[in-house]
Amino acid sequence: MPLSYILGQEQPKHILKKALEFGSLPHAYLFYGPESVGKKLTAIELAKILNCTEKGPLDRCNTCPSCRKIEARTHPDFFLIEPEKTASGRDGQIKIEQIRDLQKKLVYLPYEGRVKVAVVDSAESLNLQAANSFLKTLEEPPSDTLIILVANNLYQLLPTIISRCQGIKFLSLRPEAVQKILTRKVESGDLALPLEELELRAARSRGRVHRAVEQDLERVQEYRNELLDLVEGSSFENMGQLFEWTRNRARQTEDLQDLLNELLTLIRDLAVLKRSAHPQWIFNRDLLDRLTPLAEQKSLSALLKMFDAAHRTKGALNANLNAQLTLDNMLISFCEAA
Ligand SMILES: [Zn+2]
Repeated sequence: MPLSYILGQEQPKHILKKALEFGSLPHAYLFYGPESVGKKLTAIELAKILNCTEKGPLDRCNTCPSCRKIEARTHPDFFLIEPEKTASGRDGQIKIEQIRDLQKKLVYLPYEGRVKVAVVDSAESLNLQAANSFLKTLEEPPSDTLIILVANNLYQLLPTIISRCQGIKFLSLRPEAVQKILTRKVESGDLALPLEELELRAARSRGRVHRAVEQDLERVQEYRNELLDLVEGSSFENMGQLFEWTRNRARQTEDLQDLLNELLTLIRDLAVLKRSAHPQWIFNRDLLDRLTPLAEQKSLSALLKMFDAAHRTKGALNANLNAQLTLDNMLISFCEAA
């Protein structure tokens, strides 16, 4: 089956399979949606399918010279444009020189494959000059060429670019798909993580593979214990202890956003449990023994008020309001809701 290597993303796969079947690929696609859900991987798979010498252009074998060269990024008809890294190692911009270089190469007929495939990853990083230059390529597409733009954020793209591509929307992955992807990476040696952690990592990933990989589970564990103590102890009788917590925490402002994100996922899980949803929908499913009785104690309206208070606190801290005062206010709201 074509594109079976891509897990989840049924709708994008369906659209692409139909286009391959009917030979009706457009000149340019725009794959958009959350980061780390398989957009770039799908673009690379499509390049392999179109040029595979064994099964193409309806499927790919992944072992013929063409597939292997695309995988190794050495195929003369496959071009991957990415933002240049800045000095600090972050993604910078895609510059006009990169686009001009690509345009020169796209003029020629395919060198050894059937179709030239140009993938522009993080297309929102095209600077204005580069975007305007690239627009010309989209307006007059070179022959035997498929262009695939990959973007997380449509709003940062020029509308004129969007309008010249066929858009395909990618969604966040289900936790089961994330877990399968992680397992595959661990088993192939691409990722070094204990297999027993993968279910929890996937459940907490919000459907994005890189989030699942990057989580520091040890730190998460510390935060969650501390925060659940806080939620359990939220009552006006404990104000002394609660204010001591805010005093300590307000001194470590660099951790506060992570801590509040964690608090939001816990309150969210409690609210989901309150609606007796399937544990499959719980992010912190390893804590069910502790979350379930706590959810029983709190009313849904109390949990929603707490969520709202934590959310407002996050915004206030982002705006650099006084940390201790802001956290005090949040805990007073928690006590009122209790
Ligand atoms: Zn092949």
